[in-house]
Amino acid sequence: MKFVSEYRDPKLARHYADAIAEVVTQPWTIEEICGGQTHTIVKYGIDRMLPDLVTLVHGPGCPVCVTPIEIIDRAISIARHSNAILCSFGDMLRVPGTQTDLLSVKATGGQVQIVYSPLDALEIARNNREREVVFFAVGFETTAPATAMSVYQAAQQNLTNFSLLVSHVLVPPAMEAILSAPQCRVQGFLAAGHVCTVMGYTEYEPIVEKYQIPIVVTGFEPVDILQGIYLCLQQLENGESKLENQYARSVSRMGNQTARDLMSQVFEVIPRRWRGLGEISQSGLGLRSKYAAFDADRKFGFDIDAETAVDETECISGEILQGLKKPHECPAFGTRCTPEHPLGAPMVSSEGACAAYYRWRRGVEAVASV
Ligand code: SF4
Repeated sequence: MKFVSEYRDPKLARHYADAIAEVVTQPWTIEEICGGQTHTIVKYGIDRMLPDLVTLVHGPGCPVCVTPIEIIDRAISIARHSNAILCSFGDMLRVPGTQTDLLSVKATGGQVQIVYSPLDALEIARNNREREVVFFAVGFETTAPATAMSVYQAAQQNLTNFSLLVSHVLVPPAMEAILSAPQCRVQGFLAAGHVCTVMGYTEYEPIVEKYQIPIVVTGFEPVDILQGIYLCLQQLENGESKLENQYARSVSRMGNQTARDLMSQVFEVIPRRWRGLGEISQSGLGLRSKYAAFDADRKFGFDIDAETAVDETECISGEILQGLKKPHECPAFGTRCTPEHPLGAPMVSSEGACAAYYRWRRGVEAVASV
């Protein structure tokens, strides 16, 4: 398949691994932002192709993992409401709330429907006019345009029984939070290619300038990631800090202007609490007042300021999401915490780092098929 198979070419992967070995002379730590990149790295053993001097740490780019527990509790409350249907991506169903998860609520009669797009939820709303249909809107800038489109269309169609439980988050503020933390050890970033396909990369240029750190916009296939690491290391070894775009086949500097315009028409930037990371200012999206009629928090009367939900203590997802620890360093990994009985979201989500290590690294060497 074009733009896939050539980026899984074993010879090309080896070429970049050799080039990396040649360029590196001292220890460096690089963080990949996106959970999809984490899965590629772990699945193909890319970290094990690198010199010992190079450490890869995994970032907070798993939207399911960073959705705060109080919003999951709100989703559960909606699913239990007698007149509501909660529509959600499948990944969210097994993420633990304070006392239970959406899958358990569904199993005991709660109205939860798995959808693949917010527009599917819109269709469900059109077909169930007597019920309030709520789309659980999680994700980064990649999925926000489709969510924005669903509300835009609902408004156009005067669909009054549709609303959003919004938990959209933004990547650049999270990168700044990581870089500002006293314990930060990240010296270079691989930025998430799909986010930049929508947003472009102008937002990252001030971060490069302020923190004097290389950022390489990077794709998701093994050769993409090796090339991104190589470009990042080349900068570090040369004492440079620049924004580079490895994923030029998909990403332009300004991104997708139509998608960005739609997002800014529907959403405004607000503070957002991230699970495991705490509140990060200007790091989330909330509905603009023009679209307040589609806000599930308002429709269901949630007292957001009064929420006191706390995360379980055994899960160290905060340290995982900040790149301070790796999943296998969690005492519960693979024993008390498994995909069947998860203690935290990173073990559930298809983009979670713990799920990646459990799937590809548990007890066996990763299958390095590149
Ligand atoms: S292994 Fe489980 S308990 Fe440990 S950090 Fe990951 S999700 Fe949390």
